[in-house]
Amino acid sequence: MSENTSSFIENDERRELRAAVAKLGERYNYVDYVLPRARHGEPLNELWNDAAKLGFLGVNLPEEYGGGGAGIYELALVQEELSARGAGLLLVVVSPAICGTIITKFGTDEQKQKWLPGLADGTRKIAFGITEADAGSNSHQISTTARRDGDEWILSGNKIFISGVDQAEAVLIVARTEDSKTGKLKPALFLVPTDADNFHRTKMDMDIIEPDHQYMLFLDDVRLPADALVGEADAALMQLFAGLNPERIVGAAMAVGMARYALAAAVKYAGERTVWKTPIGAHQGISHPLAQIKIEIEMAALMMRKAAVLYDSGDDFGAAEAANMAKYAAAEVAIKSLDQAIQTHGGAGLTEEYGLAAMLGAARIIRVAPVSREMILNFIAQHSLGLPRSY
Ligand SMILES: Cc1cc2nc3c(=O)[nH]c(=O)nc-3n(C[C@H](O)[C@H](O)[C@H](O)COP(=O)(O)OP(=O)(O)OC[C@H]3O[C@@H](n4cnc5c(N)ncnc54)[C@H](O)[C@@H]3O)c2cc1C
Repeated sequence: MSENTSSFIENDERRELRAAVAKLGERYNYVDYVLPRARHGEPLNELWNDAAKLGFLGVNLPEEYGGGGAGIYELALVQEELSARGAGLLLVVVSPAICGTIITKFGTDEQKQKWLPGLADGTRKIAFGITEADAGSNSHQISTTARRDGDEWILSGNKIFISGVDQAEAVLIVARTEDSKTGKLKPALFLVPTDADNFHRTKMDMDIIEPDHQYMLFLDDVRLPADALVGEADAALMQLFAGLNPERIVGAAMAVGMARYALAAAVKYAGERTVWKTPIGAHQGISHPLAQIKIEIEMAALMMRKAAVLYDSGDDFGAAEAANMAKYAAAEVAIKSLDQAIQTHGGAGLTEEYGLAAMLGAARIIRVAPVSREMILNFIAQHSLGLPRSY
């Protein structure tokens, strides 16, 4: 790790990256660009393509495959700064953060050659599918299975809530294979092209205003070549773990950014709106909640950066605790900040003009996904506090 990359004081390179991303975020800001797209359920292609061209979306991927050669810290920084302008990209959490990391760490040379350059320059996206209707948060219960047929694999099962399948060329599917010795099912990861035969998707009717969509997937004996398996069939849990920390850190970054966006909107309004003698921001009923939120955002951001630094230094275990705490703290403050921004705006906070209520719905996702608030509390209770588990 180069000097200053693990410091709380960001080096010049990171500060410059932050400023450059912020500039792009301003251009594609929430009210003028993202919100109208989201209201029509249209993906943010122009923003995605421009961010990709500037090297922002592949910043964490290896240089030899066209990436920026930096870490999850930098990808989180990109997501935070975009999101602070209301222009966070949900699929950054999925494509470069989860799938890019897993392929980089565990893919074969051929898989890296095939997928990483496209992920790095943003021309290809990979969705990520673990959630199943019957298993829910209990991912040990997933039942999508992969069976061998000669050199090939045949996948069958279903998935739910999978984001961005319509934009992706493939989905990294978490399935299970049968252990030939014990007969027990164990997880394994497969790259499934979205145009594969017998791969069906159905768009879900979500009640949130978002540019990206969620899908139910039906894999009805999807036949895949041997090289669809990513990494070892035996080490899939470790591989999954490697992808889930970045997911939480970059998800936390999105929430920190949203919290910043809402706070900035609230502060601006509170400084301008006058209904008595002074701007409403002079009333402590308005200013104190905003000051509290400012403190909570800084704390969530610190935890997110700690998680990223731990992860980038190779401490997966230490990063897991910090990444979970960061995701928790960031989601909570994003929701609180948006709710308080709405309150600060009074009736205006519920108008389409400001879009704060729409963003509150989007921020609400991060309390549930990629891992719910309660499952994080379970993790902390068991792993950090050593308490027994109830399930
Ligand atoms: C917008 C959106 C996008 C998503 N994108 C993806 C994606 O791209 N890929 C993907 O694989 N998944 C995705 N998901 C799925 C997401 O990860 C799950 O919704 C989430 O993990 C929760 O699972 P569940 O919905 O089945 O809730 P359930 O597991 O049914 O839980 C319901 C409630 O019970 C609580 N609960 C469950 N078990 C316990 C327990 N032991 N102790 C205490 N409380 C408990 C939960 O915290 C939750 O509040 C997405 C979801 C949403 C909403």
